[in-house]
Amino acid sequence: MMRTHRCGELRVEHAGAEVTIAGWVHHRRDHGKVIFIDLRDSSGAVQVVVHTEEHPEAYAAADRLQREFCALIRGRVDRRSDATINPKMATGEIELKATHVEILSESETPPFLIEDGVDADENLRLKHRYLDLRRPEMQERIRLRSRVVKGIRDYLDAEGFLEIETPILTRSTPEGARDFLVPSRLQPGTFFALPQSPQLYKQLLMVAGLDRYYQIPHCFRDEDLRADRALEFSQLDLEMSFVDEEDVIGVTEGLMVSLWRDVLGVEIRAPFPRIPYQESLRRFGNDKPDLRFAMELTDVASVFGDTTLGIFERVLKSGGALQAILVPGGGAIHHAELRKLEQQAMERGAKGLAWIIFKEGGEIDSPLAKHVSAAERGALSKTLDASAGDLALIVADTASVARTVLGGLRNTLARDRGLIPEGEWRFCWVVDPPLFEWSDEEQRYMSSHHPFTQPQPGWEEALAADPGSAKARAYDIVLNGMELASGSIRIHDRVMQQKVFTALGIDEAQAQSRFGFLLDAFRYGPPPHGGVAPGIDRIALQMAGVDNIREVTAFPKAASGNDPLTGAPTPVDQAQLDELGLRLRPV
Ligand code: ASP
Repeated sequence: MMRTHRCGELRVEHAGAEVTIAGWVHHRRDHGKVIFIDLRDSSGAVQVVVHTEEHPEAYAAADRLQREFCALIRGRVDRRSDATINPKMATGEIELKATHVEILSESETPPFLIEDGVDADENLRLKHRYLDLRRPEMQERIRLRSRVVKGIRDYLDAEGFLEIETPILTRSTPEGARDFLVPSRLQPGTFFALPQSPQLYKQLLMVAGLDRYYQIPHCFRDEDLRADRALEFSQLDLEMSFVDEEDVIGVTEGLMVSLWRDVLGVEIRAPFPRIPYQESLRRFGNDKPDLRFAMELTDVASVFGDTTLGIFERVLKSGGALQAILVPGGGAIHHAELRKLEQQAMERGAKGLAWIIFKEGGEIDSPLAKHVSAAERGALSKTLDASAGDLALIVADTASVARTVLGGLRNTLARDRGLIPEGEWRFCWVVDPPLFEWSDEEQRYMSSHHPFTQPQPGWEEALAADPGSAKARAYDIVLNGMELASGSIRIHDRVMQQKVFTALGIDEAQAQSRFGFLLDAFRYGPPPHGGVAPGIDRIALQMAGVDNIREVTAFPKAASGNDPLTGAPTPVDQAQLDELGLRLRPV
């Protein structure tokens, strides 16, 4: 071994020991006859002192060191005098008196400081990701992610799950996103799809009798990127046979409790609350409720039954909704800020945002004040349980727009106004979601989860009456307003599977050609089964307290979908295209 110790582990108990450390020059301060170096490796940093007179050769080498040079240093650990102790460093009670300094490799000046909290442009960080990852906070995030993955493996292994890999070159799995395609050279004109998830393979593993499966696969979805979504990401994919919702939910909750305990030392309590999908929409405006703060949506239509206000009247007459949230103390928000909130509401689809500030003595301050009667003021205040100084934000629109807008404002306002308590972990399950959702883009019903999700009993009647009212045996786990996982009990009956396909507009011939292998497998005694797939990146993001999955991914793509490090995606040689039988259309 080149080194005897790691920089960050040296302590007072090592005083007097001869040690060899290796790492990168974090700082170097030249005080004439003495050079101070902070040498850093993955365990932390330690101060090294080199004296000219005592060790001229070491000094000569130290004199050449610059930031990020890679060096090996030998010397004696010395207790620092009380006056020179640095309480900010874990190694601050000691320093290393160098007897030998060796440059292992030189470094150009890095394009940004290798320190925490660096505010370099993200593309620059990604282009030099190997330097970005040297920063202590990035190392900590990568370590945390590794502990998450280890925690998952330990837990599931103890629960009798087998880790089984499934192919990356496969055929399309309908998770609702666009596929990444890989042209086949051996069969020109045909394509593999990269898996959006191993959904169908894991179901086949259940037919195969491998009744507790998991893996941590990469999944690929050609979608627009967001803070919590990337072109490729890692999931914990698991599936179990002979189970119902309670079993899958139980294993997932047990896993979360054990991960939070092992990785963060935090005790979270299970079972997590379960919120029916419709209730979540009604109370929080979306199916990813953040339970760390209140400000729930309230229906205020009854308050304005006799309104003379044109917009409220029109919306109510046409069967629309009047929804409100109450912002405690929001009366202090400046008018300019309120206009910004209105702007945000309009960006989310509202035609406007009404605001009412409650004042002492039942008075209000609002652009609508003269259209709101004393009775309405009183009823509104009562319905919202408002006090003087609170602010009500009201959206009059279709129920769906009003919910989306207020659900979004609820989250933004809670964040901006510091209403989110630190260190709270509020998990919940959102259950009983619809089986189908109408897609405006496709002008047809699509699966809310995926087409292999089992409908709840009575779905056929519901489908005939109103396709949106059929419910699925599916469940999402949500943490602090972020969806961590979706899962469901699957269909294991060919006839039922075809009925669902038919409802989705997939006839028997199409079903056979796309999913024939699954339908065929279902001819041979398929067991009842179900599973779930939590996103590893999202778990790590939440635990690390960052707001973008790129911060917990070693080599992420940039927000544009490109990889600034390798330059991918790139054009390819004509010869490669020829081999694949592909011709590019000029763009
Ligand atoms: N395959 C699903 C997904 O990726 C998860 C599941 O149903 O287990 O969302």
